[in-house]
Amino acid sequence: MKENGSSIHHILKTTFGYDQFRPGQEEVIQHILNKKDALVIMPTGGGKSICYQIPALASEGLTVVISPLIALMEDQVESLRQNGVEAAALNSSLSRDEQLMVHHKIKSKTLKLLYVSPERINTDSFYQYMKTLDISFFAIDEAHCVSIWGNDFRSDYVALKNLKLQFPQIPIIALTATADEATREDIKNQLNIQSSKLFLSSFERDNIFLKSMPAKDRIKYITRFIFNQQGGAGIVYCLSRKSTESIAQKLQKAGIQAGFYHAGMNQEDRSQVQRNFQNDNIQVICATIAFGMGIDKSNIRFVVHYNMPKNIESYYQEIGRAGRDGHISSTILFSNYNDYLQLQQFIDSSEANATFKQVQTAKLNRMWEYASGYECRTNFILNYFGEYKQEPCGRCDNCKQPPIKFDGTILAQKALSAVTRSNQSIGMELLINVLRGSGMREIYARDLHTIKTFGAGRDLPYLDWKSYITQLINQGFLSINFSQNSVVQLTPFSADILQGKKAVELVQFVKDKDKKVVKKPSIFRVEDELYEILRTWRNDLAKKKKIPAYTVLTNTTLEELSASKPTELEDLYEINGIGEVKFNKYGQSIIQIIQDYMNKSN
Ligand code: ADP
Ligand code: ZN
Repeated sequence: MKENGSSIHHILKTTFGYDQFRPGQEEVIQHILNKKDALVIMPTGGGKSICYQIPALASEGLTVVISPLIALMEDQVESLRQNGVEAAALNSSLSRDEQLMVHHKIKSKTLKLLYVSPERINTDSFYQYMKTLDISFFAIDEAHCVSIWGNDFRSDYVALKNLKLQFPQIPIIALTATADEATREDIKNQLNIQSSKLFLSSFERDNIFLKSMPAKDRIKYITRFIFNQQGGAGIVYCLSRKSTESIAQKLQKAGIQAGFYHAGMNQEDRSQVQRNFQNDNIQVICATIAFGMGIDKSNIRFVVHYNMPKNIESYYQEIGRAGRDGHISSTILFSNYNDYLQLQQFIDSSEANATFKQVQTAKLNRMWEYASGYECRTNFILNYFGEYKQEPCGRCDNCKQPPIKFDGTILAQKALSAVTRSNQSIGMELLINVLRGSGMREIYARDLHTIKTFGAGRDLPYLDWKSYITQLINQGFLSINFSQNSVVQLTPFSADILQGKKAVELVQFVKDKDKKVVKKPSIFRVEDELYEILRTWRNDLAKKKKIPAYTVLTNTTLEELSASKPTELEDLYEINGIGEVKFNKYGQSIIQIIQDYMNKSN
């Protein structure tokens, strides 16, 4: 055991260049080395890959990794190769010769990690083939894809249940970032690893600040927000392909270096954008959810959701891409009823079975409760993932600007009465205008100016009413009929309010206070000079080698280099992210660059 411990530390340092394991990693690695099954739940950015890559290196034989996306596999393989690890991916994008090469390496036992897609592994011939090999263990990445309770069910994953049946003696490690309790149990059942040990890392990311607000004046708000980021990079997630393009264009007009990314673009354009973002040549990416899986950029300073995601799992995964370097990062979630409606329609019109639709609807409702809720947002998420916490986080918008509650019974009565008197036939916007006694043509055309509550809420601004009606909906006193033009209707609880039998507590609407604008910065952050020199060198090298820049050295490593300015080769052992292979490959050049820089500036 002890020997194991020191050898895995050795691998962590020499191969990956890290000094310490992150919480949870070492326990998982030991468990696998003891040949036992494991289910590992770790938040995005928590460091799941090392949990199976190190035991793969410390074991005899070949580790087979099942991963859902070719792009994801290729990134992982490239990163491993750059660290001197023999890894390969078998997928449809390989030429015949390349495939032969991979098989040759397997045969000669030089390959340590083989990445395979689920379609590939689930064939009889591949099972037969695997039986001839010495396999140390199976790693199933993005394991939530096996469960309909998860947020990204893939039918190809279902057949993975045969792995345990066909190879009962080979351990399985299933890994995912997103699994509530139901999904966890389901993953175990689906993969036939019922007695596997669960490793659950904390989902709390204390450098990520959460904020949620109604979708209003979004472009203006986002532009201002980005100017305040002083060049820090970020992602704006959008619901549709088209909107990624139009929003990017609007940001560009405001002077922000923005690009867009969606699955409808060709591969070349997509890689180009991703590279530009990864290398800090583009500050902001407007993207659909297609963007992000496998992206290893540690200095993402903000994630904005232009629209509400379909569930907490997706939301948490997407915001989890911010702040992997541990520095403070912001998130903003915009949401409104149209998002909710549209997402509900996606679910309703999908081909899925009724159970699946029910699950997705329940998840969507929780998302909406989150977006419009007044409790600590961090705790909402932690509770959602079954990690119960009461102490408020102190950094989300609800903690920083605690809601002020008041007796809203009379307001509620006015709203409910207007709904009643308009025969439950008008939508939220019109309802507010009726309450405010607006002179809109539609009100007169529909005779709504004659009802008794017309103008009864004149004293409150539009946005205040919008907030209060939304709260009434969330508390169950009103509802929205999505199948009927989203008209606002009464619920079984409404009568008690109208008859004065029950009081309603509302939270005071507060206009957003974060509207301070700082001076528009020069388009991009001015890093320190040495960092820029190192970055240019790294990027040129990556271009020459035709590999992603971060697989040469990550920005965090460059930051560390430019801060500590090592001038002796051996000092490089202290730098995170430089293992033996990179030390040998790049050490001399790095030291030369730093020495030149120091000589020049002295
Ligand atoms: P996940 O798959 O859980 O989202 P990754 O495995 O991609 O996360 O790891 C996220 C980042 O953290 C990567 O850049 C990785 O190299 C880095 N990392 C992982 N383990 C450690 C560690 N022990 N020390 C420092 N950095 C680490
Ligand atoms: Zn909080």
